[in-house]
Amino acid sequence: MASNGKPKVAFFDFACCEGCQLTVVDTLQTHLELVEAVEIVQFREAMTEKGEDYQIAFIEGSCTRPEDEERLRQIREQADIVVALGACAHIAGVNALKNIQPSQQDVREYVYGDKWTWYDTYPARPIEAVIEVDAVIPGCPIDRNEFLNIVKMVLLGKKPAIPDYPVCVECKLKENVCIFDKGGFCLGPITRAGCDAIYPTYGVGCLGCRGLISNPNENAMKDVLMKAGLTVEEMMARMTLFNVYDPAQTLEPEVSEPKE
Ligand code: SF4
Ligand code: SF4
Ligand code: SF4
Repeated sequence: MASNGKPKVAFFDFACCEGCQLTVVDTLQTHLELVEAVEIVQFREAMTEKGEDYQIAFIEGSCTRPEDEERLRQIREQADIVVALGACAHIAGVNALKNIQPSQQDVREYVYGDKWTWYDTYPARPIEAVIEVDAVIPGCPIDRNEFLNIVKMVLLGKKPAIPDYPVCVECKLKENVCIFDKGGFCLGPITRAGCDAIYPTYGVGCLGCRGLISNPNENAMKDVLMKAGLTVEEMMARMTLFNVYDPAQTLEPEVSEPKE
């Protein structure tokens, strides 16, 4: 806690595009009451100071390197509350696409060319695979209203809850015409709600960025799948953009050569 009684907050980023932090910056610009309520001690996207004394840590991005694990554990040791910020931190998100490539070495060569041995990386993981997480803000990028609500709950000492029902519920409440009825494809029946069904509302099928609901086999949306002639299993097989992280995947041993 700062001497002024405000909780100290820090933002960290690992493998990601930093789009969720940008959403935070954008949100804070129009919600100055939140900036007033806390003392931000570290936030690379917005300031140069790097304070290491904080109670609340927001972590964006996936764990993709051995040194990420050490840093994540340091943050966990310091922070009373750790919040996973966005799909990369929550479910490994688009970073996990590399996990399903036949060879992690090929991935590194593709990205880093002949300098691939300079950059040790392994299959992407959500931060919860390394440290305990107290709250999650899903999405790619995060939803600003959900960010505000979760921050308020954390500051009030409450355990933040996120929806555990499918996007279809929000979509139907908005009286959208179903994407399946328009001949398209949508992952709404098995994806966690909370984004106000923004994609289907604008005529695009959900891509699953908020992750799976806890029990997609028992949700009430099976009729949507049946109408489209799909099983839950076939639907889940299409969750390739954001939901391919597999906790059972082993970390491929590093292949490193001396740096030039
Ligand atoms: S969740 Fe999406 S927007 Fe956020 S950091 Fe990852 S890729 Fe970027
Ligand atoms: S399948 Fe997609 S478009 Fe259809 S109701 Fe569900 S969320 Fe809406
Ligand atoms: S509609 Fe689907 S892909 Fe789009 S923001 Fe919501 S959960 Fe993510």
